[in-house]
Amino acid sequence: MTVRRIPLVAGNWKMNFDHLEATYFVQKLAWLLRDAHFDFKRCEVALFPSFTSLRSVQVLVEADRLRVTYGAQSVSVTTQGAFTGDVSADMIAHLGCSYVIVGHSERRKYHPEDDANIVDQVRAVLAAGMQPILCVGESFEERRQGIELDFAVGQVRDVTRDLSDEETSKLIVAYEPVWAIGTGMVATPQSAQEASCAIREDLRETFGADVADAVRILYGGSVTSKNAAELISQPDVDGFLIGGAALDVDELAKIARLVSKSTQGR
Ligand code: PEP
Repeated sequence: MTVRRIPLVAGNWKMNFDHLEATYFVQKLAWLLRDAHFDFKRCEVALFPSFTSLRSVQVLVEADRLRVTYGAQSVSVTTQGAFTGDVSADMIAHLGCSYVIVGHSERRKYHPEDDANIVDQVRAVLAAGMQPILCVGESFEERRQGIELDFAVGQVRDVTRDLSDEETSKLIVAYEPVWAIGTGMVATPQSAQEASCAIREDLRETFGADVADAVRILYGGSVTSKNAAELISQPDVDGFLIGGAALDVDELAKIARLVSKSTQGR
């Protein structure tokens, strides 16, 4: 039986765009996709604005009944209280978010987000009824040592260890080699496939085929419209988490169209 996972093209805006720029971007993206008769059943498109733009994106998506989904870039591990500057999973869910990115390498680097904190974020996101996009991936050092697959698989294991089958099946994993993020150095399609396949096979061993086949595994790291078609042709690559190229609306729409086209034969 062939397994059908709807590919996801996820644009991580990081700390870019205020709410007016975000609104303009979403309007233009919707217009470009509508113009291209884009089929959202073949490819999901999700945007990850900063917290300050989420409400504007929600209003627009709901008012114009857009098919674009959206989420947040991080979340607090606590539900409420004296945590100045934090935003809870429930607050994010009430803004209509479907997803939260968890453990992005920039969060791991610039904030005290260790493995324990990342597990708690995943739990908070799931408890609020959203799906976590868990970012994993090796640095140059692990790749130099030839342990990149074990490293990425280990990062997923660290998070899924205490999750139930049902919780794990709601996870989305983004394999993002740190050396490829924002550098223009993209992983080869073979290497993206190898890592995605290793992660899926490990999930299969621990949780069984239903869970392994349900989890979408994205590739992230310098994805553009020039390399997207080859990367998405890999059987275990179910879409992309995109940084730089997601700031250019024409480029993002082009990548989404390429991904949607690639599913026609799947
Ligand atoms: C990212 O930030 O998750 C990312 C993959 O960035 P870029 O596409 O710019 O490499």
